[in-house]
Amino acid sequence: MKRFITRGKHVNSFSFFFRENRFLLLILYPVVAFMSKSTKYIFVTGGVTSSLGKGIVSASLAKLLQARGYAVTIQKLDPYINIDPGTLNPYEHGECFVTDDGAETDLDLGHYERFLNSPTSQANNITTGRIYKNVIEKERRGDFLGKTVQVIPHITDEIKDRIQELAEKNDFDIVITEIGGTVGDIESLPYVEAVRQMMWELEDDCIVIHLTLIPYLSAAGELKTKPTQHSVKALLELGVQPDILCCRTEHPLDLGLRKKIARFTNVSINAVIEAKDASTIYDVPLLMQAEELDVVVLDKLGLSKKQTPDLTEWKDFLDKLKNPKTTIDIALVGKYVELKDAYKSISEAIIHAGVSNDAKVKVHWIQSDNLTEANVASVLGEMNGILVAPGFGSRGIAGKMEAVRFARTQNIPFFGICLGMQCAVIEFARNVLGYSDAHTMEIDPETPYPVISMMEEQKHLKLLGGTMRLGAYACKLKPNSKIYKAYNADQVSERHRHRFEFNGKYTEEFEKAGMIATGKNPETSLVEVVEIPTHPWFVGVQFHPEYKSTVVNPHPLFVGFIEAALNNKK
Ligand code: GLN
Repeated sequence: MKRFITRGKHVNSFSFFFRENRFLLLILYPVVAFMSKSTKYIFVTGGVTSSLGKGIVSASLAKLLQARGYAVTIQKLDPYINIDPGTLNPYEHGECFVTDDGAETDLDLGHYERFLNSPTSQANNITTGRIYKNVIEKERRGDFLGKTVQVIPHITDEIKDRIQELAEKNDFDIVITEIGGTVGDIESLPYVEAVRQMMWELEDDCIVIHLTLIPYLSAAGELKTKPTQHSVKALLELGVQPDILCCRTEHPLDLGLRKKIARFTNVSINAVIEAKDASTIYDVPLLMQAEELDVVVLDKLGLSKKQTPDLTEWKDFLDKLKNPKTTIDIALVGKYVELKDAYKSISEAIIHAGVSNDAKVKVHWIQSDNLTEANVASVLGEMNGILVAPGFGSRGIAGKMEAVRFARTQNIPFFGICLGMQCAVIEFARNVLGYSDAHTMEIDPETPYPVISMMEEQKHLKLLGGTMRLGAYACKLKPNSKIYKAYNADQVSERHRHRFEFNGKYTEEFEKAGMIATGKNPETSLVEVVEIPTHPWFVGVQFHPEYKSTVVNPHPLFVGFIEAALNNKK
């Protein structure tokens, strides 16, 4: 009775308060609701072996959540000690991806951008080197005065700050953080510990997805779950219980296997997700949707499902990818061709542009070291287009120059990117202007004809890491040029990564002889694009258009190049 009266009083006073202040409350409600909105965190760890495709699974999940109406981003934490992958040889780490803000990052960020069609930044890729550098700088500044600086809490706090800062600065609903490496590695321990702490501190706002392998033993004719059981145990020993398991497998996971995996890992059966090998990475979002990965994730995070994902554009792309009307042959001439990851963004941009032209592009990976005047016609003669890749140093340069000469003289569509454009300039100087000793100062600093010279601001730099001309710069295009036609714009913004440039001293001479500077930086007049208007399609760009090609926005220059190659075939 007493309780009833108290409650009655409470209700009465509340309704009085509501009646008196209802307008104020109506105004405040959305503000309070907005302020109390918390970001959700999804951590993706990997087990059993590397190369399971955490990046693609993360990007696919992000795609599904984005298609439901959530603001999502993906972050990669790399456990190596380099500050960034900018100083790494592509043989070590594949392509170095560059963001608009000039960060040299892991190639997974390229997948994130291609899937989500939204840009990433420095905050989307953090390495152990950067974490330690920040902590050590704070220590030198005196921020921890009097304290012993330790892995826990200082390094783990720095990791947690870098994860949460990404959400706070950009107002994302969901941040997916991919932890590089494999659980059990010594170097990824602080990251897993940071995940454990965040799971504890933020409770329902965090979940962990563990990507693992279910190998097929052909001798036994069976899929085996033991490596997954061990991998989850390794994670549990570090205090982290995964919420969802994504199981990479060559064969379907039947109910019995799912039950077995669930039983041994404390994961509910609907959260044991089959991640079967796919014929293209662009199938993975649909495979994950069929497994209801997005639904399980939203349930576990207590988020509403909003609308069913609208993947119409994505499905149209896949449909065209799988049903091309024609096929063309493109040569990709580079020195790292044994390792396809070294040219990841270029090969993906070619796929996007092929789809946009209803064509399947067969890429021929040509090792530039082996190209000579004697064999160039037999190697490249059947190609519908020739792309000369970016790069550094002297190895393979002579072969790249042969590829340019062949494309130029045989009227084969040519696309030169960064070093590829520089090779086109050198080849033109040597074989058209007659400067047989012309070169880039990168390879021959003493050349009498430095048609590619070191950029002024680079000359006094002593450090190699992070000091190139990096990130987005504007480029003004010449009307009536091929590049203008491709973009259909006066001015564009593209990403850069270089130390050397077209030597402006030679512009007039080149233009008189038929190679025109059709794109320049509007402030410095630095030549960013060269073309030969009398050739069917000969375009060299100092920047890297490949970084900006996405599934729903194929890059116009790649689209133009493939279109020219198709015309060449006809
Ligand atoms: N090595 C050349 C330079 O630094 C080209 C760089 C590149 O291809 N990314 O200018």
